[in-house]
Amino acid sequence: MNRPRGNPSRVLVVGAGVAGLVAARSLADHGLEVTVVDKSRGVGGRLATRRLGDGASFDHGAALFDPVSEPFRRQLAVWEEDGLVERTGVDGRDGVPTRRVKGPATSLAKHLARGLDVRLGARGVSLALDGEGFTLTLEDGTDVRAAAALLTAPAPQLLELLDRGGLLRRVPDGTRAALEAVSYHPAFVLMLRLSSRLETFPSSGILLLRDGGPVARIFENARDGGPSRLSVYTRAGWAASRFGAPPGEVAEALKEAAASALGFERSAVVEEELKRWRFARAASVFPEEALFVDLDGAPLVLAGDAFGTPGEPGSGRPPLAGNTGLERAFLSGRAAAGRLLGLRG
Ligand SMILES: Cc1cc2nc3c(=O)[nH]c(=O)nc-3n(C[C@H](O)[C@H](O)[C@H](O)COP(=O)(O)OP(=O)(O)OC[C@H]3O[C@@H](n4cnc5c(N)ncnc54)[C@H](O)[C@@H]3O)c2cc1C
Repeated sequence: MNRPRGNPSRVLVVGAGVAGLVAARSLADHGLEVTVVDKSRGVGGRLATRRLGDGASFDHGAALFDPVSEPFRRQLAVWEEDGLVERTGVDGRDGVPTRRVKGPATSLAKHLARGLDVRLGARGVSLALDGEGFTLTLEDGTDVRAAAALLTAPAPQLLELLDRGGLLRRVPDGTRAALEAVSYHPAFVLMLRLSSRLETFPSSGILLLRDGGPVARIFENARDGGPSRLSVYTRAGWAASRFGAPPGEVAEALKEAAASALGFERSAVVEEELKRWRFARAASVFPEEALFVDLDGAPLVLAGDAFGTPGEPGSGRPPLAGNTGLERAFLSGRAAAGRLLGLRG
C-alpha cells in the first residue's frame, strides 16, 4: 500500500453537530482546507431547534449546561458575551443547571459554523479509500474527496459509513469491538404551543420533575414573554420502554404529564409536535476523546459525544450523567482537530 498523503491539508468532516463544527473551526483557523457535510437541512445536530406553524422556535435537543472543563467554560463565556447563552439565575440550586441557551439552540452551532464550508442536505452513504485519498459518496451519487477524514455521526451511523466503503475491516479488532459497544439512550421531546403564557413557570425557564413519571424536565422557549412554548423532555428509562410505541400514544402521555405538572388545560394546546431521538445521549462511551486510525498514512479520526473517559467529580472531565453531552462533543471535536494538526509536525 502506498503512503500518498501525510499532510492532511484537505479534510472532510462528516457531521455539523458540535463535535464536527468545533473540529472544523479549529482546523480552518490553522489554515487547513475543510469541508463539512451533514445530512440535515441545518447545522447543530442534536443542538436542535424547530419552528412550528407560526414560525416560533422550539429547542428539542441540548439546551442546558453544567460546565466541568475549563475549555468548555471559556466557550460558554464567549456564547454568553454574544448573548446566546444565559445564567439560569439559580446556579445549580435544586439541581437546576447553571446555564441555558437563550434563543434558539442552533444559534450556538451557527456561531461555530461562521465562515466554514458546510454542505447541508448531504448524506454520506459510504467512505472509501484509494491511493488518492478518501472518497465520501453522498446519497445523490456525488463524491467528496479529501486527504483526511473526521467522522462525528453517532457511532452506529459512522460504523455503517466505514463498513459500506470497506474501511471497517481495516480498523483493529479490539478498537472495532469498543466502537460497537458504544450505546445511547433514546429520547422523545414533545413541543407544545399554548394559547397563553403560563405565569407559574419558574423564572429560570426550567422545570425539573422528580416524580418518576415520563417527563424529566420542561423547558420554556418563550423567554421574552408571549404565549408559552414548551419543550417536554422524557426520562431516559421511560423513552427506552416506549420507543416502538405509536407516536400519538407517546404524545398523549407526555401532554397529560405536562398539563398536570403545570396546571394547564389540554384545550390550551394550539399546536404540538413530537420529536423522536434514537441516539439522544451517550450511555456508554469509547474510552478516548478522539479515535485516530492510521490507514497506511491516511488519517481517519472518529469523534463525538460518545468519545472520552467519563470523569469523576473534581476531575475536570465531564461525567456521563447530567447536562454534559454537549461538553463531551466539544472536547472530542477539539481533541480530534488536535490529532490532525499534530500530523503537520
Ligand atoms: C433530547 C436531547 C436533550 C439533550 N439535552 C442536553 C443538554 O441539556 N445538555 C447537554 O450538554 N447535552 C444534551 N444532549 C446531548 C447533546 O445534544 C449531544 O451530546 C451533542 O449535541 C452531540 O454532539 P455531536 O456533535 O457529538 O453529535 P450530533 O449533534 O449528533 O452531530 C452529528 C451530525 O452528524 C450528522 N450525520 C449523521 N450521519 C450522517 C451521514 N451519513 N452523512 C452526513 N451527516 C450525517 C447528523 O445529521 C448530525 O448533525 C441532549 C440530546 C438530546 C437528543
